[in-house]
Amino acid sequence: MIPWLLVEWFRAHARALPWRDGYDPYKILVSEFMLQQTQVGTVIPYFERWIIRWPDLRSLAAADETEALKLWEGLGYYSRCRNLLKAARAMAEAGYTSPPAPAEELRTFPGIGAYTAGAIASIGYNLPVPAVDGNVERVISRLLGIEEPSGSAALRHRVTEAVSSMLNDRNNRSRKRISPREFNQALMDLGAMVCTPSRGGVPFCGECPWENYCLARKTGREAELPLPRQRAPISRDEAWGVLAVSSIHKGILLHRRPNKGLWAAMWEIPWFLRSGNFWEDFDAWCVSCGLNLSPDRNSPKEVGYTSFSFTTHHVRAQVVTCSVEGTLPDETWRFFSLRELDDVSLPAPSRKFLACFEKIDIL
Ligand code: SF4
Repeated sequence: MIPWLLVEWFRAHARALPWRDGYDPYKILVSEFMLQQTQVGTVIPYFERWIIRWPDLRSLAAADETEALKLWEGLGYYSRCRNLLKAARAMAEAGYTSPPAPAEELRTFPGIGAYTAGAIASIGYNLPVPAVDGNVERVISRLLGIEEPSGSAALRHRVTEAVSSMLNDRNNRSRKRISPREFNQALMDLGAMVCTPSRGGVPFCGECPWENYCLARKTGREAELPLPRQRAPISRDEAWGVLAVSSIHKGILLHRRPNKGLWAAMWEIPWFLRSGNFWEDFDAWCVSCGLNLSPDRNSPKEVGYTSFSFTTHHVRAQVVTCSVEGTLPDETWRFFSLRELDDVSLPAPSRKFLACFEKIDIL
């Protein structure tokens, strides 16, 4: 009964989204990678450009990573883009022309966890597999009055169990099972449009098909559930962002980050923690990186401040330009001309540093 009310609501109120057109599993795959950590409204133009450029799994499997990262620029979390390419290539190598249907098999490909596998299996192939993300956790925890913190394994487990059981619900009259494709999307849309987070106020319970059944609504706890996330404390750091310019190489020094972890394998404008004087920090940073640079110590010019955040860090950076010459230790260091930089996908801090430099004639 309760699942069917939601499906009926969805049929009347579903959002028109480009990846819902025809429910092509490849389009669901792309949209789900893009939607991880990113709002629907932001994703739509990126998705549309992506599908024009790479309309199917085969074409994406043959895509150039630099071009893909450039098209992804602005969406953030670039490991998603790399993993999407890796997953497409692995699927193509395994002989698939479209993502496989079973959720367990989907999970063997890079970047595909339980939620993404559930979304592709249920939305792309209409299989009865839960797809539980933060939106779904919020809706179900309120509906059932589950008292577990957001983001906890306990909440994910209880919500997944509840959704699994609802996916097997049968219509009282026809005895037909609900459509997993409709039900999972209905949960997503309800969470996005009606059972919204408490931050901006309270959910729109008067518009909810579950209003008469919802435990949070009955007990006036709509704004309290799910319980708040248990967060690690934020560390606040000071740093230097350095545009080191070589007139011999006619370019700006960039460093390629390690292949794993934050902003994996991306080229970035160097930045390092600030403890005092710029040149003391610069020299210590060069030693730690194995860089043998000869800077013009009269050259540093402060061009502004910017800030950026990652994981549990908030960094305030003073942006400085200076002249350097020297040989570079390995291929993870390179001088890029400004024209070359246009073709490189940069992490957010580097783009912020460049924005500070834009006002200055540096090369
Ligand atoms: S009644 Fe309100 S709190 Fe309960 S599921 Fe609906 S929108 Fe969410």
